[in-house]
Amino acid sequence: EARIIDGRSAAAALCEDLKPRVAGFRARHGHAPGLAVILVGSDPASAIYVRRKGEQCRAIGIASTQHTLPAETSEQDVLDLVARLNDSAEVHGILVQLPLPPHIDTRRVLAAVSPAKDVDGFHVTNAGWLAIGKPTLAPCTPWGCIRLLRALGVPLRGKRALVVGRSVIVGRPMAQLLLIEDCTVTIAHRHSENLADLCREADILVVAVGIPGLIRGDWIKPGAVVIDVGINRLPPDDATPKGRIVGDVVFDEASAVARAITPVPGGVGPMTIACLLENTLRAAEMIAGD
Ligand code: NAD
Repeated sequence: EARIIDGRSAAAALCEDLKPRVAGFRARHGHAPGLAVILVGSDPASAIYVRRKGEQCRAIGIASTQHTLPAETSEQDVLDLVARLNDSAEVHGILVQLPLPPHIDTRRVLAAVSPAKDVDGFHVTNAGWLAIGKPTLAPCTPWGCIRLLRALGVPLRGKRALVVGRSVIVGRPMAQLLLIEDCTVTIAHRHSENLADLCREADILVVAVGIPGLIRGDWIKPGAVVIDVGINRLPPDDATPKGRIVGDVVFDEASAVARAITPVPGGVGPMTIACLLENTLRAAEMIAGD
């Protein structure tokens, strides 16, 4: 039976570590590290994420401001807000909640965020630093996965790692971070042939696709570590009228074979927010020259 990787307690422990560092920053500089979150439109899931990020900031002493703009806001108005936040001395981290409405060019908005304040790590400058093996502010979800892997204490150097999914937000930066951990990294995606066979070779399997139950138990190498990033809501049934949340891996099958596995929910998700807080503190420290 696999060890269940408890992302909630790992995230809580990281937040406890951050608290005194946040307090130290405030003592040195007379103000708290500040995160500004931009939300355009009223997507309910985005609104929940943004609210949670604000609550968690406050819980560890980071000042968080939320800028909620109507869905019909022009791209120029969003760019103007980003420019103001880039210039604000109280703001050290800027997070643009995705997805943006279709009339706004997401790439242009993300490119406008100062790389020094890019706590999501999506700016091409920070993606570039990561790609040359010198991460600055790394994307929160894959960075959280690395933290979970390191906390397990299993050796990563020289191990075969497979990342399923190549998104800019998760898969690609995940592969880069595993490379920095000296893994032998393979990236699979929607066009990959023989996904099952690729999975069977992986000592470390990270799945970020968004298809419930894509990865079956007999695809997993016995003793592998499985990190399931997927978050999928199943159709409602009698027991769960809102629909159950599951990952991309068939958990019951996989946990019979793997050495360790993240549950969904309660695995990667909580770590993502904790790493956002860590990035905000680090951005503040770097901007202040600490
Ligand atoms: P995405 O849609 O941008 O990318 C999905 C990737 O999966 C693509 O690269 C695609 O090539 C690949 N893919 C699609 N079908 C495939 C198949 N049949 N076989 C192999 N690869 C296939 O998604 P994303 O933003 O990377 O998110 C992936 C999942 O992770 C989603 O379920 C999302 O909700 C979840 N997610 C979770 C967190 C978290 O904090 N836990 C954060 C971000 C995303």
